[in-house]
Amino acid sequence: MPVLGNIGILYQCKQGGRQAEVQPVEKAALVWERDTIVWVGEEEKLPADYADLEFIDAGGGMVIPGLVDCHTHLAFGGWREDEYELRALGRPYIEIAKSGGGILSSMRATREATEDELYDLALERINGMRKLGITTVECKSGYGLSFKDEVKQLNVYRRLDRNQPLDVVSTFLGAHTIPPEYKDNRAGYISVLIKECIPFIADEQLATFCDIFVEETAFTIDEAWTILSTAQDYGLMLKLHADQLSDGGGASLAADIGAVSADHLEYCSDEGIAKMRDAGVTAVSIPLASYYLRQPSLPARKMIEAGLPVAVSTDFNPGSAPSYHLPFAMHLACVLQTMSPAEVLKGATAYAARALKLDHLTGSLESGKKADIAVMDAKSVNFWLYHFRPNACAMSFKDGIRIV
Ligand SMILES: [Zn+2]
Repeated sequence: MPVLGNIGILYQCKQGGRQAEVQPVEKAALVWERDTIVWVGEEEKLPADYADLEFIDAGGGMVIPGLVDCHTHLAFGGWREDEYELRALGRPYIEIAKSGGGILSSMRATREATEDELYDLALERINGMRKLGITTVECKSGYGLSFKDEVKQLNVYRRLDRNQPLDVVSTFLGAHTIPPEYKDNRAGYISVLIKECIPFIADEQLATFCDIFVEETAFTIDEAWTILSTAQDYGLMLKLHADQLSDGGGASLAADIGAVSADHLEYCSDEGIAKMRDAGVTAVSIPLASYYLRQPSLPARKMIEAGLPVAVSTDFNPGSAPSYHLPFAMHLACVLQTMSPAEVLKGATAYAARALKLDHLTGSLESGKKADIAVMDAKSVNFWLYHFRPNACAMSFKDGIRIV
């Protein structure tokens, strides 16, 4: 039962209140027993019962909940740095995709890789994330696009969850795009998803969520309804990649079908914002994709003013967001999405946990929550996200165990 003390400032990041409310406590201390926080407050008010416990010195740093990356495509084969060069020189993505690049290039490399090869790649990446202060990661399939290869990706996530300290939340994204062998038979692929993949994945408990790419170039609203309602019938919770390239009604669908989150939302309508808020859907922003693709961000200010929680994630993937650096994404969320550092902090902790339906366990520092904690070398959240450095994480704990 340790005490973390000599904390310059601690941000509790409780769920309630406005997005900017992160409950700062100066000169704080925090106590946990096994994996659960039992006390948080000003160090001078630390109860006498805790005075003789093992003392861990936070060095005057900033303490925040362990970061939650609620949207990644962690396990994939191959990188696409050649496309990065083409895009830097102005070649549109659609042309790159038509000449065999894009998602389908990652699909080929992921199909070619063995499960062990994908596991080794994903493990190296998640170890990198751990060092940044991240303690929970959502991971999507979606580069296999066949029964066998989707299951292979999800098996990688199951092994990762068991074999390293971070919590891994798995999402089945078989409906990422239509694979080439079903180019002229969309219904055939959807049948594979709803008759083969979803029942097996649910039965084997290989995923917590089912996700889908709703876009003119991917799946229609009607197709999404069919796939998501099947997943729901099998007990999977729902997420959507929605309204990234146009207002395709994805936000409304997320609200109508009872999704936990809708992600991207660059072109989300005012009606979509209101419906999501009323239905309790979390909006997940992807600042790295806006940055790498030089595209507009989601209307974060409108969302926050409407009372819709905005989470911040990396969308780590080999195409539009080839970085797993969540603090960098958080820095970009301030600059590109015009969010305050405090709003962004709540977006990558409390609200990211909400986007994974884990808010009862993690994402905030309060009694009864898991001891998922990051210590940053910074005097405040403003300073941390303003003076951006490669890595400010000095120390972190997952389930009360030190992992950095
Ligand atoms: Zn994504």
